Amino acid sequence: MVSEFDLIRRFFTRSTPGAMLGVGDDAALLRVGSGMELAVSTDMLVSGTHFFPDTNPFSLGYKALAVNLSDMAAMAAQPRWATLALSLPEVDEMWLEKFSAGLFALADEHHVELIGGDTTRGPLNLCITIMGEVPRGAALRRSGAQVGDDVWVSGVLGDAALALAHVQGHMQLAAKDFAACTSALHQPVPRVALGLALRGVAHCAIDISDGLLADLGHILKCSNVGAEITFNALPASSTMQRYLEQSLGKCCVLAGGDDYELCFTVSVEDRSEVEKIAANLGLLLTRIGTITAEKQCIVRAADGSVINIEEPGYDHFR
Ligand code: ADP
Ligand code: MG
Repeated sequence: MVSEFDLIRRFFTRSTPGAMLGVGDDAALLRVGSGMELAVSTDMLVSGTHFFPDTNPFSLGYKALAVNLSDMAAMAAQPRWATLALSLPEVDEMWLEKFSAGLFALADEHHVELIGGDTTRGPLNLCITIMGEVPRGAALRRSGAQVGDDVWVSGVLGDAALALAHVQGHMQLAAKDFAACTSALHQPVPRVALGLALRGVAHCAIDISDGLLADLGHILKCSNVGAEITFNALPASSTMQRYLEQSLGKCCVLAGGDDYELCFTVSVEDRSEVEKIAANLGLLLTRIGTITAEKQCIVRAADGSVINIEEPGYDHFR
């Protein structure tokens, strides 16, 4: 029988040169750079709610960290450390091997160190707390949007929701289309480098975890402003474009969750700065609308008519 301590040692203990003290004591010890603020965020993934119990454990380890890195990106913080609270129904060494490989694959890519956690027996549940550094005052808060700002998003929208709609039987995708968008669902790419590049350029940012409309809505509420979005400007993958005529396809782009792209606002004068960042990072950044003084979010179709986002169907993803 493997003890909890063996398990932690085998699967979750790595060297942590960026911490004063890592796994193995009653607490880790961290030192934040001078002039820096510590950005801290927690995201929990619950089996049956956020993922299917039979999800490939490598993807699960990867995604559990990815969603947390995405929060650091949205704050323009440099991710540094993470803790992992793990509740497991049984000790399955094969599962743990793959889970930790997925987690550390992404952690290594971002030089994030796992510095502690907790391991207990119980329903499968993964909770990561991530910590990052951001120069004092440089974090991108939700409250900074200004009237007249351009609204931007990174990457493409809706692929993860499209894959999920297929898995849940709400939509029937061609096999090659499902193959093309399934990685968006299982292995989203956190936009950490973009978040860092947006320091001093963007007025605010959020990561899109609950769908563009919901998350942009948080920016609008916190900033006390509204927005006008052009539906045809929304970035969609070539796969997604094939489903845009269907109302569920539109829903995926506007309101589907799990994109983990960044939505941010920048003053019109700084458009070329954003274009430079896009070129430097080799990342698609798209201007999708404008921040307005009227405190509502309007989505316009190509002919100028307003798309009614309150109609049933759009609720499906809320
Ligand atoms: P305590 O009894 O003080 O809670 P634990 O036995 O739970 O200590 O943990 C021992 C050490 O292992 C601690 O440093 C803790 O942070 C670390 N740890 C426990 N579980 C994990 C995990 N899943 N991943 C990383 N570190 C872990
Ligand atoms: Mg403990």
